[in-house]
Amino acid sequence: MIRIKTAQDIEGLKRAGALSKLALRKAGEHVVPGTSTHAIDKLVEGIIRMHAGKPAFLGYAGFPASICASVNEQIVHGIPSPNVILKEGDIVSIDTGAELGGWIGDNAWTFYCGTPSREARELCEVTRDCLRAGIEKAVPGNHIGDIGAAVQTLAERHGYGVIRDYFGHGVGHDMHEEPNVPNFGRAGRGVKLEEGMVIAIEPMISLKSYKTRTLPNRWTVETQDKSLSAHYENTIAITKDGPYVLTQDGEGPECAMEGGVAK
Ligand code: MG
Repeated sequence: MIRIKTAQDIEGLKRAGALSKLALRKAGEHVVPGTSTHAIDKLVEGIIRMHAGKPAFLGYAGFPASICASVNEQIVHGIPSPNVILKEGDIVSIDTGAELGGWIGDNAWTFYCGTPSREARELCEVTRDCLRAGIEKAVPGNHIGDIGAAVQTLAERHGYGVIRDYFGHGVGHDMHEEPNVPNFGRAGRGVKLEEGMVIAIEPMISLKSYKTRTLPNRWTVETQDKSLSAHYENTIAITKDGPYVLTQDGEGPECAMEGGVAK
């Protein structure tokens, strides 16, 4: 069942979205060589709790941390660790979720650690464009398939792989609500979008194959061919005036973070 949100619900989701964005922005500032993903996890947990929120991922289905930190060929659900020390040239996909006042915000960004390779930078730029293209389709009267088709068309035009095993999703009191929001599909197909739906759009795009495998820790997902992967996510409300990005914190446009430093 898709839960339609009222204007008052959306206000709550904006506050949760702003906190998850703040946490993500601060995480990005610490993506520098020599930092561990565990240190970033602890920083984010502290920020969320300081603002009276709860880390939405911590304990979710048993996930052991407040962020997902997925380095290079890792796609999603990377478990932060003191043993994962970031190094020059890495790309690091960080996903942060905050619960505030009973509502969830969920967003992700692939940050550069120092200066990435040209191919890594291009992959990230195109994946960011895929997120924008998907968001543009999130308007009443369109269908879920319009979002997936927009993401897939752009990614495949560049020869990249569109991850098929993991989807975006509805967001509300729960982190994963209906509907699923795949990053592939056919325009005009799937659930019709209505005012008051809230969804996370989150393209996961790899340099080569879209095939995935899960590590023995049962969480971390990487590309089978070990090619680089990027991941960007915003939580969006579908409104009569167009898509409204809930995961923004007033510090500039929702898609304006660059590299390891939030701009
Ligand atoms: Mg998500």
